[in-house]
Amino acid sequence: MNIHEYQAKELLSKFGIGVPTGYPALTVEEAVEAAKKLPGPLYVVKAQIHAGGRGKGKFKELGPDAKGGVRLAKSIGDVESDAREMLGNTLVTVQTGEAGKQVNRLYVTDGVDIAKEYYLSMLVDRATGRIAMIVSTEGGMDIETVAHETPEKITTVTIDPATGFMPHHGRAVAFALKLEGQLAKAAQKLAKQLYDAFLALDCAMLEINPLVETEGGELLVLDTKMSFDSNALYRHPDVEAMRDETEEDPMEVEASKYDLAYIKLDGNIGCMVNGAGLAMATMDIIKLNGAFPANFLDVGGGATTEKVTAAFKIILSDPAVEGILVNIFGGIMKCDIIADGIVAAAKEVNLSVPLVVRLEGTNVEKGKEILANSGLPIVPADDLGDAARKIVSQVKEAA
Ligand code: GDP
Ligand code: MG
Repeated sequence: MNIHEYQAKELLSKFGIGVPTGYPALTVEEAVEAAKKLPGPLYVVKAQIHAGGRGKGKFKELGPDAKGGVRLAKSIGDVESDAREMLGNTLVTVQTGEAGKQVNRLYVTDGVDIAKEYYLSMLVDRATGRIAMIVSTEGGMDIETVAHETPEKITTVTIDPATGFMPHHGRAVAFALKLEGQLAKAAQKLAKQLYDAFLALDCAMLEINPLVETEGGELLVLDTKMSFDSNALYRHPDVEAMRDETEEDPMEVEASKYDLAYIKLDGNIGCMVNGAGLAMATMDIIKLNGAFPANFLDVGGGATTEKVTAAFKIILSDPAVEGILVNIFGGIMKCDIIADGIVAAAKEVNLSVPLVVRLEGTNVEKGKEILANSGLPIVPADDLGDAARKIVSQVKEAA
């Protein structure tokens, strides 16, 4: 789960990490009120969307010369006019895709005099089984470009969970950022605070770009992106409350209510599968047969009729879906129970596209019988290859 910049900064500041003062705003009036609470004379008005590259982004509704989604304002009047221009309009950045994202929230912050910009991010590195801290002196830039063109300017420090964060990790970070004296000390302290925050909040990723050295010699987190391990959210109701569903795909939001792992894709064949590995294999074999999956969907080991029905509804609410492939292995769940669920769901949603079902496992014969006697035009398949060939040809015929 992702959160907005202002929410991430609120969380980080609880760990003693320095961020510029700022206030979120949903309306132009609130933006003006926020600016009045700040010392000035420099303010920053920042679009709050779940995507980076806002500064260089463009508003669809405004001309090509209009300013982007991060604006320096020199007076409260400027804050007001910037807020008016940004709210409700669609910001397109390198990370939003062509459709862009509507700006519904702003963050008005105290403008900082920047001496230098740095990069620092953290993630769970599966290769080493450790939390990795990635730092670079090249802040404010697209880190992928830095990694590609000047990889020697990126340093990775991994922290062994057995020792936890040690002073030498902090020194390695400060050294990689080429900091000395008080700033080096500040970087060491910050690295430790970030590590503590990352662990305590069950983060999946934390990116600070840029981390800045101010003209006053302070280190501040100027921009940050934070995402969390969804499986650990139950431990953090305060973080969960920060979820902004308007930033997420509506079908994925619906799926999460039923504990379904659903990811929308670009193809036309809806997939309903139990088990993530089988779901991946199903998508591969659809592609092998010349078509594209409309989604990834893992209904889980204990798929109930309710879950299967919800899954059908979600798949069918995607207008791109022209056929559905159900591929279930009845292990924990028996095939006859799954078949009952499929039949009930297909009747409830008034299925209007071809449906191919491949069942295998415990009570498979009973399951097939239920499908055959359902009176529904369900096409049975014997194995994965057969199922994929059948759904691809059914969709082609129907078209
Ligand atoms: P992003 O474009 O979505 O990554 O948004 P950022 O918050 O990183 O802002 C983009 C750029 O705007 C930064 O790299 C800075 O150069 C500039 N910027 C943001 N806030 C301030 C500020 O308080 N003062 C100054 N001088 N520049 C800022
Ligand atoms: Mg940034």
